Amino acid sequence: MINRRKFLESAAALGLIGALPSKVLKAGNKITNRGIKYKLPIVISTWSHGLEANAESVRVLNEGGGIVDAVEKGVMIPESDPNNHSVGLGGFPDITGKVTLDASIMGPDGNAGGVCFLENIVHPISVARKVMDETPHVLLSGSGALKFALDNGFEEENLLTEKALQGWKKMLERENRTPEINWEEKHNELHDTIGLLAINEESDIAGACTTSGLAAKMRGRVGDSPIIGAGLYVDNEIGAATATGMGELVLKTLGSFLVVELMRNGASPQQACEQAVKRIVDKVADHKKYQIGLLALSKKGEIGAYSIQPGFNYALYAEGKNQLLNAGSFYKTTTNK
Ligand code: ASP
Repeated sequence: MINRRKFLESAAALGLIGALPSKVLKAGNKITNRGIKYKLPIVISTWSHGLEANAESVRVLNEGGGIVDAVEKGVMIPESDPNNHSVGLGGFPDITGKVTLDASIMGPDGNAGGVCFLENIVHPISVARKVMDETPHVLLSGSGALKFALDNGFEEENLLTEKALQGWKKMLERENRTPEINWEEKHNELHDTIGLLAINEESDIAGACTTSGLAAKMRGRVGDSPIIGAGLYVDNEIGAATATGMGELVLKTLGSFLVVELMRNGASPQQACEQAVKRIVDKVADHKKYQIGLLALSKKGEIGAYSIQPGFNYALYAEGKNQLLNAGSFYKTTTNK
């Protein structure tokens, strides 16, 4: 397993994370720049754990790796971080105490793969990649996904750490157990799905999305992240999008597909994210209780980010700088109270 501190130190030494602040967990302090076209490559990903993921994706690209390798290897960093309670190892369990994982990946050739309700595998993204590369299917679930992983040389591991177990127990003690908005800000801890989009110098685009989903979710619950078009979508002619937050809202609106279709119809990535969030606000009656964050990347090298509630941050690697930025939001103050 990669030692987080060592990784941060070496990534910072490579200049990939810039001067990584001691408070890497704190939200960034700049709002996304609209309409800027960056030089390629670009890597953009959800939340502050995206800084490390971006750095790894860039390392892969710099070493001549492919765009699909870059997105897969990038999100493997938070997957194997036991201190990250919303992705892979150390993820918060479902209501029965089991950690279940969802992931998807999509490449520039339009091929896609996903796994959902997968247990005991640290890197669901790599299983999703195998589904994409080596089967005629797109999505494998539960025991079938686990069997496929084991048949392909993945090894089972207990993903429930002591820290996640204790956090989960505390969560269950709370009377009001509605999903928390912006976990990171409240708990000063890494959290939430990592959705990562990348474009290389040849303008090829890929994306990856991986999560342990909603903490204390119902047994069998699957979110948006493994569903192509919901948690992730890539169209190499247009761009890509990914989502984080309350998966049910993204599923009801096919959020990532929507963002890419809006771009196809002329919207910039920023406009597309804003219009898609507005669609969720218009169509989902109880949206005020939840957070959704959307990221987009265009073929031209523009980016977009927007959320329902304030507090959504994302990591952007562009033109040699890897930085944490705040997304704009539909509501200016949190509305779940
Ligand atoms: N979208 C994920 C899910 O609903 C969770 C998150 O991003 O917070 O499973």
